[in-house]
Amino acid sequence: MGSGLGGLCCGALAARHGLEVVVLEAHDRPGGAAHGFERRGFQFESGPSLWGGLGRWPSTNPLAQVLRAVGESVPVVSYAEWGLLLPEGQLRIGVGAEPFLEAVQQLRGTAAVEEWRAFMAWLEPYCRAAGALPLLAMRPGLGMAGVLGARGSAALLRQAPRLAALGGAFGPMARRHLRDPFLLHWVEMLCFLISGLPMDQTSAAAMATLFGEWFEPNASLDYPLGGSPAVADALVRGLRRHGGELRTRAAVRRIRVEGNRAVGVELETGEHLDARLGVVSNASPWDTLDLIAPQDLPRRWARQTAATPACASFLHWHVGLRGAGLEQLPIHHVWVGDWQRGIGAERNMLVFSMPSLLDPQLAPEGHQVLHAYSPANEPWELWRDLEPGTAAYDTLKAERCGLFREVFAQLVPDLADRIVLELQGTPHTHRRYLRVHQGSYGPAIGADRSPFPGGNTPIDDLQLCGAGVFPGIGVPPVAVSGAMAAHSFVPAAQQKALIRELGL
Ligand SMILES: Cc1cc2nc3c(=O)[nH]c(=O)nc-3n(C[C@H](O)[C@H](O)[C@H](O)COP(=O)(O)OP(=O)(O)OC[C@H]3O[C@@H](n4cnc5c(N)ncnc54)[C@H](O)[C@@H]3O)c2cc1C
Repeated sequence: MGSGLGGLCCGALAARHGLEVVVLEAHDRPGGAAHGFERRGFQFESGPSLWGGLGRWPSTNPLAQVLRAVGESVPVVSYAEWGLLLPEGQLRIGVGAEPFLEAVQQLRGTAAVEEWRAFMAWLEPYCRAAGALPLLAMRPGLGMAGVLGARGSAALLRQAPRLAALGGAFGPMARRHLRDPFLLHWVEMLCFLISGLPMDQTSAAAMATLFGEWFEPNASLDYPLGGSPAVADALVRGLRRHGGELRTRAAVRRIRVEGNRAVGVELETGEHLDARLGVVSNASPWDTLDLIAPQDLPRRWARQTAATPACASFLHWHVGLRGAGLEQLPIHHVWVGDWQRGIGAERNMLVFSMPSLLDPQLAPEGHQVLHAYSPANEPWELWRDLEPGTAAYDTLKAERCGLFREVFAQLVPDLADRIVLELQGTPHTHRRYLRVHQGSYGPAIGADRSPFPGGNTPIDDLQLCGAGVFPGIGVPPVAVSGAMAAHSFVPAAQQKALIRELGL
């Protein structure tokens, strides 16, 4: 239930293993946060814009591994530079170790360069350990030994101490090695972009994976041609190729539970579907609770899940603009207003993504398409009591989203004359289209406290997948949770055969 990237990975992989799968999606199209929409010839994205590891094989990206498993791939354009609007000024920084050092040299001088080099040298074996972990081999309960062969298990054992060190937060690791304020701010920014949390709560494993990819020789980022919907479509093709079905406009009203076992679902239309093996919910854990009748809810689990703190939400700015003269801009810009306010402060960080610079099909000729968002720093509380469509709501929306124009005009001074189409989204928009509690990015579970909860639930044959469960928020993690949910219905031997076939 739910066709976010986690749900689609789960469905496609389960179908690949020969299970009978129906993916039920409330919206009229698949993808969840990664869905797209069209207005007047502009192809807009609604979510992820930073992708890596999709354009090559072998790849450590679990999404690429799932795509491979179901016989699909997504054509990408690689790029190696992004733009930054920081308190230090406007920068263009190349992806990878050396280009970043050039920027550090210019901004902070040789001592900071040496500090960063030493940190990276120290981190490198941890990055290798994180990259060596074949996450698709994980089974619910978090083990993977039964699935890896003897060679894989031995390799894993060798990495065990480093992997154990990656079990906590990244902040203390960075602080132990870095003193330069810019370098610490840089790490803080990357952490927040990855997790929606400060570095003292961001998973060290997630950051080691990121640095492992970005700091490889010839590192690059990938943009999927066609945008994020192309990734969702590839997974849907993989699902269908293996006999699975996707039903859109099929909102689930109730997960039917009998004798503590998930036996099927009831749609909002009243239709009942029976599940022979079980139900996987790609709705957030909070929203999944609302789909289970109170008398069927195990109390402790319900209490714990309901009490999980939520990351903040998003503002979205979708713009179609005349594009002449913008061709030299990098596809992405990240803006940070003031480091001293703290990385998670509201109205202090924005992400701008103009994918038509790499994929001109996304905008009418001579135009560019822009999706900007405030990454998980827009407080739900500001919006909770406002009704969309009211004057108060519209006033706040115009006021809060005005920041996008203000900041982007630093890059494109004649912005106002170029805009031909402008749409704004609030946490209510985010909640409405993704059906997610408070329009949240996902659970605010600090890696300094505990890992994300696994996808197992105390209700038999009910699994969760997506950004609400282990390993957490973001495209690669939700692919892992989707694979784990699928594999919970598949014997370990079958999973092992797949891991061997993929060469992981
Ligand atoms: C603006 C934005 C930018 C991001 N940028 C990046 C990035 O650059 N890189 C990165 O790695 N990650 C990024 N992320 C995070 C990443 O996109 C998400 O963590 C991930 O896509 C979430 O996937 P999911 O499986 O949890 O499902 P979701 O995307 O949350 O989708 C859940 C689906 O379930 C459906 N559903 C819910 N309830 C029901 C129901 N009752 N019946 C039927 N269907 C239901 C919803 O309609 C939805 O389609 C970004 C996220 C956002 C919002």
